[in-house]
Amino acid sequence: MAPKAGISERISIGVLALQGDVDEHIAAMRRAGVSAAGVKTRADLARVDGLIVPGGESTTVMKLLARFELGKPLQERVRAGLPLWGTCMGTIVVAREVVGLEQPTLGLIDIAVRRNAFGRQNDSAEVALPIPVLGAEPFPAIFIRAPWIERQGRGVQSLAERDGHSVMVRERNVLCTSFHPELTADTRVHEYFLSMVLEASQAGRAAGIGNRQDVA
Ligand code: GLN
Repeated sequence: MAPKAGISERISIGVLALQGDVDEHIAAMRRAGVSAAGVKTRADLARVDGLIVPGGESTTVMKLLARFELGKPLQERVRAGLPLWGTCMGTIVVAREVVGLEQPTLGLIDIAVRRNAFGRQNDSAEVALPIPVLGAEPFPAIFIRAPWIERQGRGVQSLAERDGHSVMVRERNVLCTSFHPELTADTRVHEYFLSMVLEASQAGRAAGIGNRQDVA
């Protein structure tokens, strides 16, 4: 699943850098063989072929997205096909709905999430999580005050479950994990996301409409 040399050099991954564990994702992408950079402005966003929304504090990030006028352009690019991956807080930010709270979200994937769902005793845990799309070896999944996916639309594919709840889902170009793959040495989820990015950018190239938007 590792990205092919040559193609991966032309891929530019962005990590939304308003708050949260941005550097850890950039380092994990480097370990997976692809360069990544923080996204703080609309111009940064326009340059990327795939975007990660990292872990952090979802209410803070929603406020910062509004303040930096990044929410709308982000929604537009993802609706036009930009591959997006939310981890933990990122899952909450991109969800359709937060169960039991009037919390605004970007509504980019048809899921309803419950914040801090695994309870106090499990505030943080490392779980050997079976993720069949990544192969037979379970993934060392680190959960930190993690949400779970309480409801999902019919177009959403569940890729992993913990305690009977989805914790990794995909709907077309949007991937969500309620755990933190960037905090482990295992780069398989990063490679899975890169395969989504490569697919999208190759499809864009084949249609002659590069996925990336050039900024004037
Ligand atoms: N509990 C946090 C929130 O709801 C997410 C925690 C995390 O990203 N590690 O925003």
